[in-house]
Amino acid sequence: MFTRQQRKGIEKLVEDGFNDAEISKRLGIDNPQELSAYRKSKRLMTPSERKARRNIIGGVVGTGALLATRGLIYELARPVTFEDARRNPELRQEYINQLVEREFGKTAFQYVHQFVYDYDKSLTVRTINDETIKYSQEQLFLENAIDAYINHPLFKDYNGKERRKKVLEFLQSPSGRPTLQNTVEFIRQGRLRNLEVKLAGSVGYMYDLGLKKKSKLFIYDGVFKPSYRNVSGTERIFEPTEENLIAILKHELSHAEDYYRGLHLQNGFAVTHDNFTKIKNDVSFYIYESKAYLRALEFTRALGVDHPTHQFALTDFAANMARVEKDLRSAKLDTYNQTLVGIQQGNLKEAIKNYPGLADMFKVFGVRLDLTYKN
Ligand SMILES: [Zn+2]
Repeated sequence: MFTRQQRKGIEKLVEDGFNDAEISKRLGIDNPQELSAYRKSKRLMTPSERKARRNIIGGVVGTGALLATRGLIYELARPVTFEDARRNPELRQEYINQLVEREFGKTAFQYVHQFVYDYDKSLTVRTINDETIKYSQEQLFLENAIDAYINHPLFKDYNGKERRKKVLEFLQSPSGRPTLQNTVEFIRQGRLRNLEVKLAGSVGYMYDLGLKKKSKLFIYDGVFKPSYRNVSGTERIFEPTEENLIAILKHELSHAEDYYRGLHLQNGFAVTHDNFTKIKNDVSFYIYESKAYLRALEFTRALGVDHPTHQFALTDFAANMARVEKDLRSAKLDTYNQTLVGIQQGNLKEAIKNYPGLADMFKVFGVRLDLTYKN
């Protein structure tokens, strides 16, 4: 064991590029092997070791200078595995960085500017709170508030567009401001509640939909722990795996792409910043989520129909769709929103043919894909 003073000294000397023999001499360490073990456990690397490690990971191993210290560097360079990260929370951010680089390469950062391990979700909560304050005067909140108060007796003497206008005037007046604040708070609480069950989340600029803004992607402690899901009355346990984390990242990357580019559907239907207040929350959720789950299924299907990761993806997908479908069934939608739902429902019916097991899982959870609207 090293003293605190020694540990600080080691960190500095390693960063300055000294080797273990030199560091041992300077700090009076008798056993250089203990030093090397300590460096390994803390992944302390000299700048040139870091460079060598990048080369090893990048696959350019084998220059002469490198071979001399190859053993130690190789140990340091050994990629952090899922098991390493599962056992040691301190390695999780590094593991995620490596996984993202390995699985997605540069495309990972097309729509995301950062992948953050947020073990207790506190960074996500802070981001949601900041966003709520920043965007609380935006049209999206106003639209939600209008919907919430449109049937209030206060406006019973007005109809149609006139009534919406009156509600809007009220919300923007000093006496209506607390009402608007209530809606903002309601939405914020809803987002925080949704967070409770999540394994990862992309806090994107949903209010800047389609304005080419990159999201921040958060990964939570839950991806390293077993997940429990109730499937037809039986509790199923899904062990945490790297494949599952990749599937989750694919899901979140789909959200990030949609925030960045806007929500694009067939037949030229697109929800972007110009028209995004027209889409209802339940409808956007239906589309965002089903798109993201389908993206993840593309990956999990390749693992095999019986693979636990595929089973987990199907289960989560069906459970979520059942919930949204129920909300949609009771929602009053205008023609525009009905059209969007219709298009996405068509996509889901198509998907059932391509993803074995999906139809069965939809049945188990009562997803019916029978939302029909009279236009
Ligand atoms: Zn999602």
